[in-house]
Amino acid sequence: MLPSFLYAVTNEAPVYESVVSNKGKKIINKIQMGTYVKPGDEQGDFYKVTTAGPDGWMRKADLGDTMGIKIFYLDVGQGDGVLIEAGGLRILIDAGPADNMHSYLTKWQYTYLLNAKKPVHIHHLFISHFDTDHYKGCIKILNDPRFTFGNIYHAGILKFAERTNPYNTSLGDTFKKDGVSYLAKIFNNLLTTNEPAPFNRDVSGFMKAIANAKKENRLGGVRRLESGDRPVSRVIERQNFSIEVLAPFTERVNNKKNFVYWSNESKTINGHSLVLKVKFGNRSFLFGGDLNSQSEEYLLAKYGNHHPFETDVFKSCHHGSSDFTEAFIQQVHPYATIISSGDNETYSHPRADAIGCAGKYGRGARPLVYSTELARSVSKSKIIFGLINVRCNGSDVYINQMKEAGAPADLWDSYQLPGT
Ligand SMILES: [Zn+2]
Repeated sequence: MLPSFLYAVTNEAPVYESVVSNKGKKIINKIQMGTYVKPGDEQGDFYKVTTAGPDGWMRKADLGDTMGIKIFYLDVGQGDGVLIEAGGLRILIDAGPADNMHSYLTKWQYTYLLNAKKPVHIHHLFISHFDTDHYKGCIKILNDPRFTFGNIYHAGILKFAERTNPYNTSLGDTFKKDGVSYLAKIFNNLLTTNEPAPFNRDVSGFMKAIANAKKENRLGGVRRLESGDRPVSRVIERQNFSIEVLAPFTERVNNKKNFVYWSNESKTINGHSLVLKVKFGNRSFLFGGDLNSQSEEYLLAKYGNHHPFETDVFKSCHHGSSDFTEAFIQQVHPYATIISSGDNETYSHPRADAIGCAGKYGRGARPLVYSTELARSVSKSKIIFGLINVRCNGSDVYINQMKEAGAPADLWDSYQLPGT
């Protein structure tokens, strides 16, 4: 009996037009590891398959019953937005400043669900911090009744409206103890903040969206995370999959948890980003939010000799800003760095020194440095937003980008990371 569905278990697995004498003839497509196919017939060592691209024949040896995990680093312009699919889980880490993530989810990735009138369930939505380039794009997704949500996680710092703000910073009041400045406010469950002062317009929009999703029974819970938490941990295809929270840290002052306040509001909210380590099998993927030099030094001091930051693939901090430390990147020591940033911005992200150090402190003879801006294609008539695809089966990791002018038979610019 034919299996009802299969996945490619090799990367750039060829799809042939026909099979002659048990040999594939003419490659008409190549598909990424983990891609779903539907077998319709078999002949010798081959299955006839239906795929998202042209149908054809695939070698049985290129197909199996494990998908592994998929990580999509979406080009959201100036900002961060990542989708992870793992063992039936859908996970978002940030969703950019505007509509790109919503469009990607509704017009491409999950059209098969929406066309069948099924909701798109996002099991876990992580918001690294409340700067618009990370969370504002979530508002449209939260307000879309076709989406349901398990948990929303955040780092605990919100922004107040400027004109009516009764506090001494846009993040709330600060106080000093033993020469160190701290932020007095920490928010836990955003559905019940009991905060008298108004939040800024975009945060208010977000708060309304989650309240509304909750009222419509489309949202489970909302929870603040800090270092040591492990909100996701399960076995997927006989391998461990987990998401560990490496930052932010709180400090206990006057018997209450507080965040250290760094030199200004922006350094403080960025510096206390959620830093997440996604692990599958013996591979790992680090998401560094918008950390800066001060917070990296603080985190390195917190962890001392524990070195939890080393990883295979690193979503670079703060869009490739120059405000980083070499010491931190040396600890991360990734085979591949992915920088997420936009055009038409005043920061000049990614900065030349950030790109240089990503290479210099990367692992292996040829460290890989990706940029969502380079993944973008611009022609006279339109912009095609880029996408960096990571596929991992627990031991092998492939990073694939679609060629800007590729034929289906030769679609992918692909690298395999060195083994561990
Ligand atoms: Zn940012």
